[in-house]
Amino acid sequence: MRNRRREDLMQKDVADVVIAGGGVIGCAIAYFLSKEGMKVVVVEQDSIGSHASGFAPGSLNPLRLPLETMDIMLPLSWRSFQMHKVLSQELKEETGIDYHFCPSARVILAFTETEAEELKLLADSQQKQGFEVYWLDRDAVLDMESRISSEVIGAVCSEDGAELESYQYVLALAQAAEKYGTEIRHGQIIGLKRNGTRVTAIQLPSGDIACERTILAMGPWTGLASSWLSFSVPVKPQKGQVLRMQVTGLPFPYTLYWANHYITQTRHDGLIYTGTTHEDVGFDDQPTEEGRDSIINGLLTMMPSLEKAELVLQTACLRPLPADGLPILGEVPDWSGVYLATGHWTKGILLSPITARIITDLILKGCTSIPIEPFTPARFTSNENWRLVSHMD
Ligand SMILES: Cc1cc2nc3c(=O)[nH]c(=O)nc-3n(C[C@H](O)[C@H](O)[C@H](O)COP(=O)(O)OP(=O)(O)OC[C@H]3O[C@@H](n4cnc5c(N)ncnc54)[C@H](O)[C@@H]3O)c2cc1C
Repeated sequence: MRNRRREDLMQKDVADVVIAGGGVIGCAIAYFLSKEGMKVVVVEQDSIGSHASGFAPGSLNPLRLPLETMDIMLPLSWRSFQMHKVLSQELKEETGIDYHFCPSARVILAFTETEAEELKLLADSQQKQGFEVYWLDRDAVLDMESRISSEVIGAVCSEDGAELESYQYVLALAQAAEKYGTEIRHGQIIGLKRNGTRVTAIQLPSGDIACERTILAMGPWTGLASSWLSFSVPVKPQKGQVLRMQVTGLPFPYTLYWANHYITQTRHDGLIYTGTTHEDVGFDDQPTEEGRDSIINGLLTMMPSLEKAELVLQTACLRPLPADGLPILGEVPDWSGVYLATGHWTKGILLSPITARIITDLILKGCTSIPIEPFTPARFTSNENWRLVSHMD
């Protein structure tokens, strides 16, 4: 009897799962797993949602994907988008936090014939898959929104999109996870302990946390875990800057895109988000004048009448950029109980629910009904020919 009690006590000190990283990916997984009764610890070196996950505009664009990876990514991003609709209700009930999930249309502008051809190709490919995507010519675009530059030659539109407040969303996930028993600890993970191929603990400067499994969801920092794993995690930081601006006049009921640029409005304060940049500058996450100027140039190309918009805030943060442009989801080769959930690049907010579902399935059942072959870490051991695709915010 006494032995059993001691065993129980010892077992209590072992987490079922330790999640490294308290961004949107780590918090979404914590929520899904703890809801299933797992004993979860999230370890975050700064604070919850304090990097890209808390600063991203929170646009959910399931159809805006690079042509090169469209076939692979579309089923995943579409399913995740559908999950968001349910999750926004569920998390509001669980936590009382309203993160202003709100459906909104997407309008992608073309200013050259080449851009128009590319957009028509995209629309054509998505229409064939049954999505409601349509081409508007110049007059129709200007009828819809007279503030758009008269230089526009057309646009692709879709009703399938939404906006949310990303920081509030991450907080809702974290709070709901805590409600189901997740423990959130502050600290920087510096390594893993193993017994054979099996992970036994994660290491912090203050001591180890024993665990059955660990999930590395450290966003752009996940590449730093390569030395712990003797497996190269091909993820690096990519800086993105955004501006928040005060505009006057009618609200924007849609998100506008052109090339790397976008304009979207947040419902709760009426400010617009406009961005962005894609910079290869390591872990430097400082806003710059060049970044600001290039974003404003893009904004004024789309809508010259916003010349008088007032800059309220400029931020910069780091996307987790994977070597081949696809998320990295699943167990690390040659390890047992170590999973990667990273590389979500420009789509981490959108892809957080499906990522949490996949990792939860893998941990609870050892498999998932969601096809994950193209996303497994093992692809980097078997295929040397992966290459970076073009980005789409
Ligand atoms: C400008 C910009 C705009 C974006 N807009 C959108 C958008 O509109 N829609 C969308 O879907 N996506 C968007 N994204 C992408 C999205 O923000 C990211 O894909 C997503 O936030 C990645 O989440 P994450 O949890 O993997 O990483 P992060 O948010 O970076 O979180 C990782 C966490 O891990 C912690 N960590 C790292 N190392 C350790 C360690 N050793 N120990 C403990 N903790 C550690 C970090 O402190 C961090 O909090 C945007 C990104 C940028 C930069």
